[in-house]
Formats: sequence, structure tokens, C-alpha cells
Amino acid sequence: MNDFVIGTSAFSDAHVELMKEAGIGWVRQDFPFPFVDRVGGELSTPYRKAREVAQSWGARGLNVMGVTPLPGSGGYKPDDAGRMVLHWHSAFPDWAGALGSDAYLRTYREVCAFLAGDLHGVVQMWQIANELDIELFAGPLNPRQGAGLILHGAQGLKNADPSLMVGPNTAGGGAAYYLYGHLYASPNNHLDYCGVDGYYGSWAAGGPENWAPRIAELFTLTQKPVLVNEWGFASKGEVMNEDELRQNRAGLSACQFRKWPATWDGGHTPEVQAEFVRRVIEGFASQREHLMGMFFYRWEDQERCWQCGSPDCPLEIAWGLVSVDNTPKPAYHAFRDGVRRLMG
Ligand SMILES: [Zn+2]
Repeated sequence: MNDFVIGTSAFSDAHVELMKEAGIGWVRQDFPFPFVDRVGGELSTPYRKAREVAQSWGARGLNVMGVTPLPGSGGYKPDDAGRMVLHWHSAFPDWAGALGSDAYLRTYREVCAFLAGDLHGVVQMWQIANELDIELFAGPLNPRQGAGLILHGAQGLKNADPSLMVGPNTAGGGAAYYLYGHLYASPNNHLDYCGVDGYYGSWAAGGPENWAPRIAELFTLTQKPVLVNEWGFASKGEVMNEDELRQNRAGLSACQFRKWPATWDGGHTPEVQAEFVRRVIEGFASQREHLMGMFFYRWEDQERCWQCGSPDCPLEIAWGLVSVDNTPKPAYHAFRDGVRRLMG
């Protein structure tokens, strides 16, 4: 695979021609746990639906990067005092083994081997689970167990189909460097790329200028091509004041305030989002030799914040290059033009 990967996360009814016009050739798609009662047994309905969606991306001319089943995922709900509390639910059936145990990791390896075979020719690249350096996705899995899950997943995928490109991603959480150190120093780790997610100026301090040194750093540390699995800048939302930021850093969810912990330049507007996109792609261009590709998060805006369920929370609704109804935002044009320059 020599071509530079340009992709995004999108709903299955996204405007594919508009995506292609922006240079997008890949979509990132989650796959749920595939089996109902045992490995190799009856396939679950959500898995069969996800397989149909992946096939339909292919039929519309896009490649698919699959995300192997998440161990679970979290969301925030208010407690009796109105404080937003994280609720994390395992996505695996009980028979898969106790969370993080040897039996569980074995099941994960077998599930990934199945996915590689069942989706052969449909999914060309894999991201193993998602952001296991943060509690929202890792839940009670500690980073050592999370690394074990990634290594077992990679082994399952690559043993079944050595032509697949596989790797993990991190969110820049406190455990990210532990994961990178553990994973890439492990012998026979089967990992083809070093994946990274980042939201400078939205979730994290900084701006577009952080991307080039981040990519250079990760290449130096891991000696693998870097894949940016998620990047973006939200076009909506106010910014926390000092007191709110202090509480957020102490562990209170940003959904409590419905505000951003970080900002960049003129704030979270469609115009600033466009300028952010333009500058990040310039940074990517400066790292082309170490960079395998990037997935913009995300194609379209969303109706509700998936973390707290509210349509009034700006935190997960305004990442899109296009609006909910697939109308281009200023960032769409900045992305399309930037990609044209990048691909030269
Ligand atoms: Zn929210």
C-alpha cells in the first residue's frame, strides 16, 4: 500500500461524491462483537449489519479501515446531585472471559482472526479497539491489559491475513506513552503503523502547529509510519473559564459545562475551523515521509453529543466538514484544497 491514506468517519448515508471530490478515499468503520454464543457460532445482528455497511462503502468506491470491537464504551449521566458521572458498559458477552483475563485476550485474538477472514477484500486496514489510554474507552482495563488486547488483536488479524495493515491509536491521555513503549518494544508485535488521535485547540491545549512535531516524535519513538486516526477542530462551543477548567482537570466531564477546555485563534467557529484545517494539512505535508495517512474526524456534524446525549451540548456535534444534511462548511473547501496541495 503505497498510496497516502485520506479518510474520515461518516454515517452510512454520507454524500460519497462530495467525499471523493475532497480527496477522501477511505472511511473508518466500527465493527461490533460478532458472535452470539461462542467463537465461530451464530453471527450477531449488529455485526451482520456492519458488514453490509462496509460492503456498501466498497461498492461506492471507498476503502474501509475497520475498528476491531471495542471492549466497551462510556457516556455521562447526571447523578442525584446533577454531577455528570461516567458510566462504562462492556460490549463483550460474559462467555468471552473476565475483562482483561488471559481467556478474554484469547477470545479477542480469535475474534480478530475471524474478522480478517470474514471481511477479506472488504476491509483493507484495521485500527485495534480505540483510545485505550483513556477511561472513556478503556473502562476498567488498565493500560497493561489494554496493551495485551492490542497485541492479541494484531496477532489474530495478521496471522489470518498478513496483507492487512494494522495498528492502535491513542488519545494523548496519561497512559499513551506507556502504550507506545509497551507495544512497539514487544517482540513480534505485528503492528504496521503508529496511530494517534489529537484535538489540539478543542480537547487539548495547542493548535495546528502541534501536529508536525507530534508526528516526528512518534516516528522517532516507534520507528513505524504514523497514521493520524483522528484529528479535527469543532466549529461550535464556548470555552471554559478558569474555575470550570480547574474542575474539568480534577475529573469533572466537559459535558458538565457544555464548554471546551481549549481553544485556538478566534475560537470555535466555522471560519476558524477552516483555517485550522488548512494549517494542519500544511503540517502533514511537512511530515509526508513519516506519515502514512490521516482520517479527519469527522465527515458530518451530529444532532446530539454522544457523550451525554444532549442536543444542546456542543462537544460532539460540530466536528464535521459538512453539516448534518451534507452541506459543505468552510472547512470542507479548506480540506479539499489542502488535500490537492498535499497530493501535489
Ligand atoms: Zn456532551
